[in-house]
Amino acid sequence: MDIVERIILSEEQIQERIKELGQDISRDYEGKSITLICILKGGLMFLCDLSKHLTPLVEYDFMSVSSYGDATESSGVVRITKDLEESIEGKHVLIVEDIIDTGLTLNYLLKNLHSRNPASLEICTLLNKPANRKVEIPVKYVGFEVPNAFLVGYGLDFKQLYRNIPYIFTPKPEYYEND
Ligand code: 5GP
Repeated sequence: MDIVERIILSEEQIQERIKELGQDISRDYEGKSITLICILKGGLMFLCDLSKHLTPLVEYDFMSVSSYGDATESSGVVRITKDLEESIEGKHVLIVEDIIDTGLTLNYLLKNLHSRNPASLEICTLLNKPANRKVEIPVKYVGFEVPNAFLVGYGLDFKQLYRNIPYIFTPKPEYYEND
């Protein structure tokens, strides 16, 4: 594809790591059922592939959030544009995220979800970009540590496109410059 500058993670690398994560999670939650909370839209591909490798019983729920933009982003204030459909009280909740960058979104969501009294609350992120972190986030499961670059594919968008591409890449700079 013309937009691709460099492939950062191939489809094979991603799928292999997801299988390992699935095995780790299955072992840790043995005998329990898990409520997987997917943060839309970026976490969707990861949720589907990861959950195929989970042996405990799994329930899905979905949330959508939007940032208030630059002025309030530093305070980590995000708006929930789609809330969960079910109560998570007393449940073992695992948040499934595409990428953690500043950590501000998850920092807000963790507080919000904790207040609903789940039995446990953990995070599984496919990608972790620690270079840009503004708040510390306790992440239990990480697929890959990635460099501080703008990444696209496998759930991550560029102007809402390319989420369906099965690998993760950096786009060519001219795609930004032609805006
Ligand atoms: P945070 O609050 O951790 O800064 O924001 C996390 C969200 O920012 C991710 O769920 C994702 O939607 C977006 N994001 C962070 N880094 C990237 C990136 O490299 N590429 C894309 N497409 N989105 C990103």
